[in-house]
Amino acid sequence: MTPSPQPPGAAPVVPFITLRENEHDVSDRSLALRPFRNGLGLCYADERDEDRDPSGILYARVTQNRNQTGWPAGKPHWKQVHPTRQRECATHMLCHVCKEQPSRTEQGTLFIDVLGPKARPKAARLEGLRTFQPPVCLRHAKTAIDLCPHLKRNTYVAMRVAAPRLAGMLGTPYTITGLTITPAHTPGGTAMKPTIIPFNHPQRHYFLGAQYAIELNQITVIDLEDELADLGHD
Ligand SMILES: [Zn+2]
Repeated sequence: MTPSPQPPGAAPVVPFITLRENEHDVSDRSLALRPFRNGLGLCYADERDEDRDPSGILYARVTQNRNQTGWPAGKPHWKQVHPTRQRECATHMLCHVCKEQPSRTEQGTLFIDVLGPKARPKAARLEGLRTFQPPVCLRHAKTAIDLCPHLKRNTYVAMRVAAPRLAGMLGTPYTITGLTITPAHTPGGTAMKPTIIPFNHPQRHYFLGAQYAIELNQITVIDLEDELADLGHD
């Protein structure tokens, strides 16, 4: 059974995917090289099956701070996401707050995303939108908006999505020079920002993957307040 994100007396709800204190990226500790079909690529010296996406992209390793029931513990870093937990929710299309099933209707699965300072868009303009925020259950839709600093600051859009799919991975490209592995830099010498690559990218073995990008297809924009009101939430 999945532990409740809301143990008695605990508040506020912290989304399952939110990074907690004492959770650290430790990928560099055992990053190594091994041969692939097109040359050397990234691996871990002590690599396990769960370290790699089915496409061959190596996952970043971030420690987990869990309590005795297995639920994430410690002070939340509200603006940051734990990549392993994001991937878990994205892969199985689970609510990113409680890790249970998200809200689903005939129109599709419920997603919420940042819209920025714009008016409510038509669904056609959102088709193919890519998000890093896995779906949400109706119970936690309002929680997600209230707690997410990006959603709180900006206009959000609530969508029913009939055909969401994993479309690629956000992560860090690496450069391999001889046997030296370093995060890739721009020609100007600054570290490259995290970037999204598709699963069949030819450079995927030089890439440390963090979060899945979810592509939203067959979108219906909904009025979340209406749906919540129908359920008696306010
Ligand atoms: Zn939920």
